[in-house]
Amino acid sequence: MNRFTRKLADHSASLRRGRSEILQVNVGKLCNLTCVHCHVNAGPKRKEIMTHETIERIVDWLAKTQISTVDLTGGAPEMIPDFRFFIDQVKRLQPPRHVIDRCNLTILLEPGYEDLGEFLARNRVEIVASMPCYSAKNVNAQRGEGVFDESIAALHLLNSLGYGLDRELPLHLVYNPVGAFLPPSQDELEADYKRELKKHFGIVFNNLYALTNLPIGRFASYLRRSDTLQDYMQLLIHAFNPATISGLMCRNTISVGWRGEVYDCDFNQQLGMQWSDNSGSKLFLWDIDPNSLEERVIMTGDHCFGCTAGAGSGCGGAISSQS
Ligand code: SF4
Ligand code: SF4
Repeated sequence: MNRFTRKLADHSASLRRGRSEILQVNVGKLCNLTCVHCHVNAGPKRKEIMTHETIERIVDWLAKTQISTVDLTGGAPEMIPDFRFFIDQVKRLQPPRHVIDRCNLTILLEPGYEDLGEFLARNRVEIVASMPCYSAKNVNAQRGEGVFDESIAALHLLNSLGYGLDRELPLHLVYNPVGAFLPPSQDELEADYKRELKKHFGIVFNNLYALTNLPIGRFASYLRRSDTLQDYMQLLIHAFNPATISGLMCRNTISVGWRGEVYDCDFNQQLGMQWSDNSGSKLFLWDIDPNSLEERVIMTGDHCFGCTAGAGSGCGGAISSQS
């Protein structure tokens, strides 16, 4: 029993899967940025990307399920050569599945990606875009010099395509703290973002998701370098909120890696916590029966305290209004 499962037991709880509703696919670690908080350690030199054949196997598997949403993440998912093929194939399924693109915004302005925004809009792909602050100083500190101006230009582009305005083109922004602290109230922050981005840049968007930085990957290295890892862990543990447990994303999401391997969530994926069968063989998506996953025990560790701290945190932002 680890510290997290002990904490759950203290609250007479355990963590098991419910119905699978989202297939979150991490298509690789290639990215045009190298953000300080990145839990994937993504960057321009990473070579791990999903192949055409793996995408075909994933879509074949998906076609036999009732899973309604495919959530594409990375890296910058748009940078893999078969990104558009993947979306085309998912949209051809009957019934077509909803697609989410976790976008870092700046990729929309890179040479060779000029028509990416139009492609996403044409396919009614929901965009969840990183925007850790509405001030240039904080964004550039976390994501790199010049990223704020590029993000604003990309948001203008998305608004011009109807994103954030058309009901079928949702545009959500993602905030995460610029240091070793918990996010503030998501509702208040969303109101601030909406006011400031509209006032200074004329930008509109739908929702703000406030995420907690989990102590893994590049963010964990940053905490170790600044000798604050233990303090940050204590902060997360002390802020444990049992009201978040039922809404944890690992309960309804299957996470798939760039080789097709399966995990409970993208964080477990970065920690190499791949599913295995009873004999210890590692599992890939095509090995699992989607109808046999309910009640499966979720693999946990210290990092899970990042999801249950305060208002909680998942791919859709805060989980509970209680903090
Ligand atoms: S946080 Fe996102 S945009 Fe930044 S390096 Fe990681 S994958 Fe790329
Ligand atoms: S890190 Fe979060 S989403 Fe992943 S298994 Fe732990 S609690 Fe669930």
